[in-house]
Amino acid sequence: MADPVKPLTPRRHRKPEVTTIGGRELKPSTLMMGYGYDPVLSEGSLKPPIFLTSTFVFENAEAGKRHFEGITGKRPGGAEGLVYSRFNGPNQEILEDRLSVWDGAEDALVFSSGMTAICILMMAYCEAGDVIVHSGPLYAASEGFVAKWLSKFGVRYVDFPAGATREELDAVIVKAKDMAAERGGKVAMIYLESPGNPTNALVDVEAVKAARDATLDPAVTPIAIDNTFLGPLWQSPLRNGADIVAYSLTKYAGGHSDLVAGGISGAKAWMDPVRSLRNTMGGICDPNTAWMLLRSLETLEIRMQRATENAIKVCDFLKDHPKVEGVGFLGLLPDGRQKDIYDRHCTGPGSTFSLFIKGGEAESFRFLDALKVAKLAVSLGGTETLASHPAAMTHLSVPDDRKAQLGITDNLVRISIGIEDAGDIIADFDQALAAV
Ligand SMILES: *Cc1c(COP(=O)(O)O)cnc(C)c1O
Repeated sequence: MADPVKPLTPRRHRKPEVTTIGGRELKPSTLMMGYGYDPVLSEGSLKPPIFLTSTFVFENAEAGKRHFEGITGKRPGGAEGLVYSRFNGPNQEILEDRLSVWDGAEDALVFSSGMTAICILMMAYCEAGDVIVHSGPLYAASEGFVAKWLSKFGVRYVDFPAGATREELDAVIVKAKDMAAERGGKVAMIYLESPGNPTNALVDVEAVKAARDATLDPAVTPIAIDNTFLGPLWQSPLRNGADIVAYSLTKYAGGHSDLVAGGISGAKAWMDPVRSLRNTMGGICDPNTAWMLLRSLETLEIRMQRATENAIKVCDFLKDHPKVEGVGFLGLLPDGRQKDIYDRHCTGPGSTFSLFIKGGEAESFRFLDALKVAKLAVSLGGTETLASHPAAMTHLSVPDDRKAQLGITDNLVRISIGIEDAGDIIADFDQALAAV
């Protein structure tokens, strides 16, 4: 688990944070109840109020000038206080401080969706002529943003399969460097997603870092990783060599299927260009959503633990079922390279996995239509169990040969286990399999 990293975003008159007691570093699950918030500044309110305001009053004209020098980059270090709600607000700053705690990061930024976070992150680092190196598969919209939109601005990409070895990574990074040199550009970013969606394929972040450091300047080309599936509890990629972690906070972090938001975290130097572009474009998470996420982060650990315990029990039931061809669950990896990556990078298997039903689309649809407790919906990481059919739903537009290459078959059902009673979920899956 991540250790908190100081300093906090500077806010006026805030009480000093207690993050250690007698040399003991307090854990994120403890810090989620108060970190970054001083009740004295809000009439003693135990919980932060939702600050519905578009702008903030300066103490005096000189302070206003100083803030704008920070915002515009005339003075390094950013704004020293709150200015205008497109830039930031108290709820969002507390959320950013607490997200940093989970990731053991110096700084974090929150956005109106996971895709806003990912798009602004990539745009902040790319110029015409540059090349992005990314793992595959990625979340379809992330892959589409690189291939369809960044390409319009002269940014090219090369991708590699998630399980790539050090030798394969070296080859793809050298190729990207040569491609960039052809047009006078640079390798702008190495962008990873691990586990990948929907296959759960893991990327060896340690090997990616070693390969990057061997060929490229680590101060120029950051390694960013989408940590939505296991983070922030079961995987802390900053410790394995990543520079920037990205999230759809819509999923496990929000955890109740009732909001859409995103975030990134990492060293302040990596966050600054992204903050600057977010200040220009907007795309910051709204105060109400930030407040809901603060509530969600208080229960993050117990929700993710319970969902994972449930998933282990459910997969144990499914793996030997006569109607099941196989289960793609990180808790059931056979010995091999993927298991080795898992052991070095992950502390738990999460609760999202692939279930391969014996048969094809018809059999899978019969299973989905027979479910009584689990809901038929895309998304993941909520309190409730969800099931969907990637080939016919989220990945419908993926060409057939690419689907085959990624292992997205017609008998693949995607499951995200929630925090219900494990026995009830098993009973539901048992009766739905009987209907196949
Ligand atoms: C959902 C998801 C996203 C996109 O997040 P939104 O909050 O829907 O914009 C990105 N990456 C992964 C892995 C996701 O599951």
